[in-house]
Amino acid sequence: MAKNSVLAIRYGHRVTSYAESYLNYRLYGEPDADLDIDYYFWVIRDGGGVVLVDTGFAPEAGDRRRRAHYGTPAQALPELGIAPDDVSAVVITHGHWDHTGNVRQFPRAQLIMTEAEYAFWTSSLAARAQFAAHCEPEEIELLRQARADGRLTLFAGQHTVAAGIELTEVGGHTPGQLIASVATRDGGTVVLASDALHFYEEVERDRPFAVLADLPGMYRAYDTLAQLAAQPRTHLVAGHDPLVRTRFASYAPATAAGAAASVTDLTRAR
Ligand SMILES: [Zn+2]
Repeated sequence: MAKNSVLAIRYGHRVTSYAESYLNYRLYGEPDADLDIDYYFWVIRDGGGVVLVDTGFAPEAGDRRRRAHYGTPAQALPELGIAPDDVSAVVITHGHWDHTGNVRQFPRAQLIMTEAEYAFWTSSLAARAQFAAHCEPEEIELLRQARADGRLTLFAGQHTVAAGIELTEVGGHTPGQLIASVATRDGGTVVLASDALHFYEEVERDRPFAVLADLPGMYRAYDTLAQLAAQPRTHLVAGHDPLVRTRFASYAPATAAGAAASVTDLTRAR
């Protein structure tokens, strides 16, 4: 049995609104209100190595888009006792700018994403305004280069990264959005939903997020996540929800005092 530890690092924040975040929010007949959105990347550690799930946005892209930010993986990992060179694989859950921004910090890691996601973002459709708004072309170019260098693993359906770390393609939010299921040392499972689930309310109140590629696919992804959440000792981790920091315990080893406020231990659900 794999013994993985799983951390969420909150590296950014913005105040948005319900109307901006939920698809056709007026359908629900509720007043609009402010909504906090957090930005995370995730770290999976086992005996054998470190797997990074997404890389956050690049600081300059965050500035341009007026998001607050508190550090990149290369800055945050050393505070957790991890050298960036220890990262053997970087999982790219989807091609959006706030997930692909710091891939360049890991020039030796194997990159893993779905074939459908790679094919979409390297196609001419990705340049259309509704899609282009969510990606940074030079970051997609870097993926293209990684592929030419033999450093990009593409898969369809399911892929095992290492013992106890399984990726599943779900689509919906983007053409090849993936989720990661991680077996933990207590026999439980942590499901890193990334942007298949920005906010828990999407699944818990069946309310789709505003940015999407395929609405039936997004609903089916919510069904997949709900089925996973119904399994014993299985915990969903939403990709942008501040509730992650209340539903799980904070991670505060003595060595990471500086980063403790923004790191959550996903193996300790509360
Ligand atoms: Zn996204």
